[in-house]
Amino acid sequence: MEILNRGDALQAWTAQMRAEGLRVGFVPTMGALHEGHLTLIRKARQACDRVLASIFVNPTQFGPGEDYDRYPRDEARDRALLEGEGCDALFLPTVEEIYPTGRQTVVRVGAMSRVLCGASRPGHFEGVTTVVAILLNRTQPQRLYLGLKDYQQVCVISRMVQDLGMPVEVVGVETVREADGLALSSRNRYLTSEQRQQATALNRALEAVRARYRQGERGGETLSSLARAVLMESGLDRIDYVALCQSDTLLPLPQAGEDPIMLLAVHVGGARLIDNRFLARD
Ligand code: AMP
Repeated sequence: MEILNRGDALQAWTAQMRAEGLRVGFVPTMGALHEGHLTLIRKARQACDRVLASIFVNPTQFGPGEDYDRYPRDEARDRALLEGEGCDALFLPTVEEIYPTGRQTVVRVGAMSRVLCGASRPGHFEGVTTVVAILLNRTQPQRLYLGLKDYQQVCVISRMVQDLGMPVEVVGVETVREADGLALSSRNRYLTSEQRQQATALNRALEAVRARYRQGERGGETLSSLARAVLMESGLDRIDYVALCQSDTLLPLPQAGEDPIMLLAVHVGGARLIDNRFLARD
């Protein structure tokens, strides 16, 4: 696996791939890799000729008081895991490499980036879209692999790609879970064993909502209340949001329409966890 630390080295590598007519699949991450990330690598491996990953804990997507400083970093382990998956190249930039002194440009998506996680984490998606735009410009991959666990992120980035005419296909990959349903997340490391147990309520709440939807319930408020009740029963009372939304626009749905999605964000101990479920899909 080639280790690329500088933007110009990254550009040279991807230019070489293009010159050879090879399709590159790109998997951006913040490291502390787990099976979720590795699944994205495998999907890219299956569909593309070369796989490029990046590890960059992006300071601009963390708000003041958030976990930027304590975010888990384990470069040696991450490198070994990526090698093991047959990843072809890894971009490992410094903050200075991504954000040159004097920078004045940001990429900001509109309304879709200000609801849900955007409402409680102001500026978060601006940080995400700005760094992803920089990475995409440098790499120009054929495909960009993103996890559906961060569903709003997939929507916001897809919107940016479409609005700015970026020539890349966005591929959303199914959420990878523990056996008890908890979505894998680098932030699960913050949980004590008791909190880890409580955290299973996120998936249980979503399953309960889906079951009620399948029985015919369509009311947004009723379905959201059910999710809240399941969370509260497990002692999770620091609920950031529970929302029923239209899956393509993320607009709130008073009544479940076509292809609704339930999304939630909950503080569990020192971690803020998110999860979601499509109610009408298998
Ligand atoms: P992160 O390192 O948290 O920025 O995540 C990097 C990529 O991995 C993002 O596209 C995430 O959506 C994706 N990802 C994180 N957790 C999971 C998971 N449990 N299943 C699938 N993809 C995931």
